[in-house]
Amino acid sequence: MESNRIQTAFGALKLNDVLLDVLHKEGYLTPTPIQKRLIPVLLGGHSATVSAQTGSGKTLAYLLPTLQQMNPHATPVTHHYPKLFILSPTKELAQQIYEVSKPFASALGFRVVLLQGGGKRTDEVKRLERGVDIIVATPQRALEHVEARRIDIKAIKHLVVDEADMMFDMGFVPYVEKLFAAMTERSQKVIVSATITPRVVKLAKAYIKSLRRVELDPPGKIADTITQYLYPVVRSKKEALLSWLISSDDLKRVLVFVRKKELADGVAESLRSWGYKVGILHGEKMHQERKKSLLAFREGRYQILVATDIAARGLDIANLDVVINYDIPHVKHDFIHRVGRTGRAGKAGMAMTLVSPDEIEQLKDLQKVLGSKIKEVILPDFAPKEIKARRYLLQPSPRKRKTPSAKAASTTGVSKKGKKRKTTKRDGWKLLDAAKEKKKRGRK
Ligand code: ADP
Ligand code: MG
Repeated sequence: MESNRIQTAFGALKLNDVLLDVLHKEGYLTPTPIQKRLIPVLLGGHSATVSAQTGSGKTLAYLLPTLQQMNPHATPVTHHYPKLFILSPTKELAQQIYEVSKPFASALGFRVVLLQGGGKRTDEVKRLERGVDIIVATPQRALEHVEARRIDIKAIKHLVVDEADMMFDMGFVPYVEKLFAAMTERSQKVIVSATITPRVVKLAKAYIKSLRRVELDPPGKIADTITQYLYPVVRSKKEALLSWLISSDDLKRVLVFVRKKELADGVAESLRSWGYKVGILHGEKMHQERKKSLLAFREGRYQILVATDIAARGLDIANLDVVINYDIPHVKHDFIHRVGRTGRAGKAGMAMTLVSPDEIEQLKDLQKVLGSKIKEVILPDFAPKEIKARRYLLQPSPRKRKTPSAKAASTTGVSKKGKKRKTTKRDGWKLLDAAKEKKKRGRK
């Protein structure tokens, strides 16, 4: 019965039996809206820019039809040469795409290779020499192999650029352009992001003659499944608030974003000194360390991962309780990607943003992205005086406050230095008030 449903749901998209079988085994029951829309377009051989919300299933939406075109009758492959090239701006996303593609590729007899800065060049060369069908790579390393003629770029029939707009933010566009220019015009090119920006479209148009635009959601819209809270906070109390939020809500898997590498180190250090198990992910860490941190976080050995915006793109982490923005990102779009690490595949997600008075201008800049859905929470122990006086930073969302009871005495709080302690009746009032508000919205 179940199997019939799968056959009809994905089968209606004219995918071959081998792919349908793997979908079934991997537990994908029905195609997501972007998969329904994009698969037929790509099976038709068209090039496209693709934009759909974070967590909407874009990876399979481009993988399935490109794989099927490479082996339409799912007959055994004997001659291996690169046909599909998938570019990712970060190593972590490349690794993830590689993992997602593996069961599908191997069922069709394809070999996949991961080429990424930090990976061992000699291993990569060996694998390329043995013959591969699919390459998942970061742009700089990809170009290096192309220029060394270890990859016949003219033979590539399908190119996917995932998280395309981040290629600009990371300065990778020259590499991407060189790859575009080296490919044949006939090859299929797919440009993907939840935030396709005008400059991405311009770049795509410069290299692709006939280009479809597949847009599911208004670009840059945050998924409705994500509940967002905004916490005005005195800058010097950010770390204490972070710890308080994690402990009082008993958050088990927390992804914390910060703008700067040094800040990531500092915040992680403080959290560790308070007894949390914390991983760090940023561009200055060695490849192996980045890999280890992310894996330990995915497997639940770290409760918290403190990361810069390199972790904001594409990463799919199961059972994430919450994304906490320790600050407002440099690039507006990154906010959408940061919070988009939760609320994936239609599941509920939660994001909390800490904002100090010096970030109010940046917050205003984000207003359009945030909409009116974000709920502002004023915690008397942490909010800046001026905000407490004004009550709200964004739209007013008055909340009735109940009189705190004697239970306040047992509320767990965090001191300025961040040490967990039992609060006294005296200071417990404020914390209880805040805890109640948080509990209330947690139930909603
Ligand atoms: P995006 O690239 O749009 O951010 P992903 O491709 O990373 O999203 O997919 C997000 C999550 O949705 C992943 O955990 C993936 O396994 C899951 N997913 C993808 N397609 C389906 C589907 N058809 N049914 C159920 N879950 C899916
Ligand atoms: Mg993605």
